[in-house]
Amino acid sequence: MRTSQYDIVVVGGGLAGLSTAAYLAYHGKKVALLERGKLGGRAMTIQLKGYQFNFGAHAIYARDTSYLSKLEQELGLNIHWEDFTQLKAKFDMGEDTSVIPSNIGGLLQTKLLKGMDKFRFAYHMLFTTLGFEKGDPNLSIQEWIDLRKISPAVKEMMLNLATTNFFSGDPDSIPSDVFFSYYRRLFKTNIPVSFIQGGWKVLIEEFKRIIKKNGGDIIEKTKITNVLSNDSEVTEVQTKKHAYSAKEFVFAIPPEELQKLFQDSPIKSELERFTDYEPTYVMFYDVGLKKRIESDYTYIFDKDRQIFITDISYYDMEAAPPGGQLLQAVGYLSQNEIHDPLAHEEMIKRMEHFYDKHFDGWRKQLVIPRASKKPVLQAIRWSMNQRGLPTHFDKLPNVHFAGDWCQGTGQLSELSFSSAYNVSKKILTKKAAIQGV
Ligand SMILES: Cc1cc2nc3c(=O)[nH]c(=O)nc-3n(C[C@H](O)[C@H](O)[C@H](O)COP(=O)(O)OP(=O)(O)OC[C@H]3O[C@@H](n4cnc5c(N)ncnc54)[C@H](O)[C@@H]3O)c2cc1C
Repeated sequence: MRTSQYDIVVVGGGLAGLSTAAYLAYHGKKVALLERGKLGGRAMTIQLKGYQFNFGAHAIYARDTSYLSKLEQELGLNIHWEDFTQLKAKFDMGEDTSVIPSNIGGLLQTKLLKGMDKFRFAYHMLFTTLGFEKGDPNLSIQEWIDLRKISPAVKEMMLNLATTNFFSGDPDSIPSDVFFSYYRRLFKTNIPVSFIQGGWKVLIEEFKRIIKKNGGDIIEKTKITNVLSNDSEVTEVQTKKHAYSAKEFVFAIPPEELQKLFQDSPIKSELERFTDYEPTYVMFYDVGLKKRIESDYTYIFDKDRQIFITDISYYDMEAAPPGGQLLQAVGYLSQNEIHDPLAHEEMIKRMEHFYDKHFDGWRKQLVIPRASKKPVLQAIRWSMNQRGLPTHFDKLPNVHFAGDWCQGTGQLSELSFSSAYNVSKKILTKKAAIQGV
């Protein structure tokens, strides 16, 4: 078997693997990035009939304080952003709509809270932002609210926020400490949501550019099937025909893959705890329209139907052909609906009716629909008994983990970027310490 030698081998070419490989290559390491299929993983952009369907909405939350922004600045990534217009994000209230209060400006305008409840909610926002409201790891957000005897309107507001940002129809499962650390970031930001112009593919190309420019190797269609380790470190990873050895290894592959690869390693039992976790599934139903249907809002959420629609092409001009529109409906499934095809059909119908209500005439303009019935939005659903995988175990000090199943900041891709960034920094500091720099 042929062996190639590197400083660092990164296994998995999703957003976490790409950003790790780019960061380490940029800082002078000889890096190989190994991906079993195509680069991007779950962050895919598919072009169909002139519409760009992003398998993944490429919405980045709290961009100004995000790890993706750190990577953008430090690596000089060439990304163009379109920021969400907050006042165009609305709640469907049945007969009426109202602004979503994600900051003080929104709070003043919203009809969801009245009189004293606005002050009560502002108080929670302030306390959360200042870090006084921390929640409790042993209480879900639902339990935490019930214990605090919060007013019904403020309670409903907080649970709606939890539902939308954690993509879960079941707020009882969201740990209150995770909720408050998430909102600490979100309440502080001036840009709650931004879209990458051109979608995920632009970001993937940028990471690729940095890796190549700095002498890194990207090896696609290369599935790692074996990890060789001794008692204290991993020495190489292997495909059927090729071995890759390195001083440090980063595994940016999902827990079920890790489980297979680390069967005979000293961390087998540590990993086992994290491998049978339930992911977050949602339903996506995108529609590509010939002609734009104008609306007062670019995002509309219906808490009773558990659906929201985003006008993707309003923010990402490349998502639809000139004059056209790409709308995306997202629906939350409860745990018992996830594997039920009838529930999926029912959800599609609900989404179509929601399109009828807010984008009247869409059916006549329809060029292409695309439904994804069970994509894994996030590899681990953050709930009371499911927490992220540590990025490192002391038993194998030259092995690191990154991905949206790992401990980190935020949710979704921010977990991938933050774990990748922290792992890269750790590797760079470790080297510097060894070399006495
Ligand atoms: C429909 C959808 C909508 C989304 N919308 C958003 C959004 O709006 N905003 C947001 O921030 N996030 C969103 N996300 C989440 C975001 O896409 C993910 O958090 C992110 O792409 C995860 O990247 P990752 O690198 O952590 O994992 P993955 O993308 O799962 O990457 C893992 C990679 O490892 C490779 N691999 C696995 N095993 C091996 C092996 N043995 N050898 C070599 N390679 C291997 C896989 O092929 C894959 O490429 C969405 C996701 C989906 C599915």
